[in-house]
Amino acid sequence: MTLGSGQAGPGTSWCNSIVAPKATMQRRPNADGRVPRAANPAHAENALTVDLEEWFHVCGVGGVLAFEHWNTLPARVVPTTRSLLDLLDRAEVRATFFIVGWIAERYPWLVQAVHDAGHEIGSHSYRHQRVYELDETAFRSDLRASIVALKAAGVADVRCFRAPEWSVNDRSLWALETLVEEGFTLDASMAPLKMVGSVMYPRRPHVRRTGAGPILEVPPLVADRFGQVMPLGWGWGLRMSSPRRVLRAIDRLNRSGQPAVLAVHPWELDPDPPRVRLPAGLRFAHYFCLAGFGERLRTILSGGRFGPIGRIAEATSASM
Ligand SMILES: [Zn+2]
Repeated sequence: MTLGSGQAGPGTSWCNSIVAPKATMQRRPNADGRVPRAANPAHAENALTVDLEEWFHVCGVGGVLAFEHWNTLPARVVPTTRSLLDLLDRAEVRATFFIVGWIAERYPWLVQAVHDAGHEIGSHSYRHQRVYELDETAFRSDLRASIVALKAAGVADVRCFRAPEWSVNDRSLWALETLVEEGFTLDASMAPLKMVGSVMYPRRPHVRRTGAGPILEVPPLVADRFGQVMPLGWGWGLRMSSPRRVLRAIDRLNRSGQPAVLAVHPWELDPDPPRVRLPAGLRFAHYFCLAGFGERLRTILSGGRFGPIGRIAEATSASM
């Protein structure tokens, strides 16, 4: 199956064409000569994704965190992103960074640093608003602003999108057509989870048909626990779970031939995150189990085989 211009060619990645493979990203044998498990080609490739945003990019809250105050809030994205880039470099993992346009506009050199480290780049919108709270015109305008900001920062083309707070759902399925019309070939915004999406959504990468053409939808990792579906691949679900539990779930998925998709934020690695008063649900999502998360993420990355989300797109396309 070919998804239009999304097919990556030589020297390109699925999400954009500026990312060259990083030579140092080969896993080295252990001291005893054995190649680590993560390098086993029989294992499915999983995706690590990063939503590159500030700690104050919280959907659905106004007050001190409203858009008009962003310029006055303490900026943390540069040191936290550097920490994350350092962690990924040491783990020899390349990821896909979905970058907020507002960030790309202010820190184009940070976008370049992400690129220079060999990661893929996608859009995480411009103003970090829930898609279902926008109409089609406002969504398209915000999407275009994010593309302009990323292009000004040196990203040649942008084909992969993740909505803030997984906000492409039954209330905003029209957005998929807009994404296709704007040149996107991959969306990673639909969570198979009741609180932000629907448990009826497929848990595996799948093609969604729109009036403008197909788009590949790549959902994040969820798990069934105590009769509920929980977000095992991101947020509080990932932070509170032991690396062993996460890796076991990934292994089970991989054995059934499916990839797992994880999502993290630079602010989750902040050793001293600014604290603001948030509604209970958002407080939990943003502050629960932050302590030691970097170490747990390191353990997870060393125990599986992870790459940019475009790899999943290539593998999925090849098998469809
Ligand atoms: Zn976000």
